Amino acid sequence: MVKDIDLKIKNQISESDRFLIVSHVRPDADAAGSLLGLGLALQSAGKTVQMVLEDGAGKFVYLPGSDLILQKPDGDFDMIIVVDCSDPDRVGEVLKDYGAPDLVVDHHKTNLNFGTINVVEPEQVATAAILFDHLPAWGLEITPNVAACLLSGIVGDTIGFRTPNVNADVMRKAAALMDLGADLPDIYRSELVQRPFQAIRYWGAGLSRLAREGGLVWTSLTLADREKIGYAGDDDADLVNVLSSVQDAEVALIFIEQPQNKVKVSWRARPHLDVSEIAFKFGGGGHAAAAGADIEGNLDDIIQRVIEETRNLIENQKTIRGV
Ligand code: 5GP
Ligand code: MN
Repeated sequence: MVKDIDLKIKNQISESDRFLIVSHVRPDADAAGSLLGLGLALQSAGKTVQMVLEDGAGKFVYLPGSDLILQKPDGDFDMIIVVDCSDPDRVGEVLKDYGAPDLVVDHHKTNLNFGTINVVEPEQVATAAILFDHLPAWGLEITPNVAACLLSGIVGDTIGFRTPNVNADVMRKAAALMDLGADLPDIYRSELVQRPFQAIRYWGAGLSRLAREGGLVWTSLTLADREKIGYAGDDDADLVNVLSSVQDAEVALIFIEQPQNKVKVSWRARPHLDVSEIAFKFGGGGHAAAAGADIEGNLDDIIQRVIEETRNLIENQKTIRGV
């Protein structure tokens, strides 16, 4: 069923020629896959499209169209679209010379609805899954390249169909994307299996400081680790997913030291808990099961503050929910 909002978006797309699509800093597979999936679909419809990630394509060079990704927009646009981003600050500086986006497409429950039109569906596993549902209603075709980008987004955000929000409908979407030309084993290998040698050594540095207290498991990664090992990214190389595999861990956290006295924190929670609230409180956001924030301060202080607040949050939520 085509809804009024889809019709409105379809009309706005058909009346526009120059598109700007952006997503968040430190892009993940859903950010890059949704950006490229939507961008390539618009290009196939004959539109002029700039796809912008402030931090560039990063490790997503394996996605079709990744060579088209810019780090800054240039010129004027008829329609500006933000994907997979819950607040306007998370795109970095790229929209500072432009007004509010015309359209926001996202699945984060902490989304601030900062677009003129907002397609925000928190029950969806990935922004790419929302695009899969809506692109046909917006008059856009899911070509084989678009399908590959969207399936990458779904595979990334579900960590290979492992998160508790995966259901038969998600698997049907994945199967439909495979029918449309996406190569699942290839996407799976590129997104989740293969890693640079340095990434595994970087894990080693983090794992050597692994800590546990009650239901919390955490570690940190320092700027010195990155420099010593020669790890090129400023993220955790997905180490937090290894931490959340610890039996009985209710919440796994990772603290990644950043330049200029900042720390990136990631939380991962078991299904009965919600860490989006605490990430939001620290100026970030995300989902019940996976959330993050960039916090100002030194590493040791932030570890102490965040661990304490997270411990309180777990106790409160468990009391309220009776688990
Ligand atoms: P990660 O911990 O892997 O960076 O992110 C987990 C989830 O939280 C993702 O959905 C991501 O988009 C969101 N997230 C991570 N960091 C931030 C942040 O600083 N601000 C907001 N709004 N969301 C974040
Ligand atoms: Mn996402």
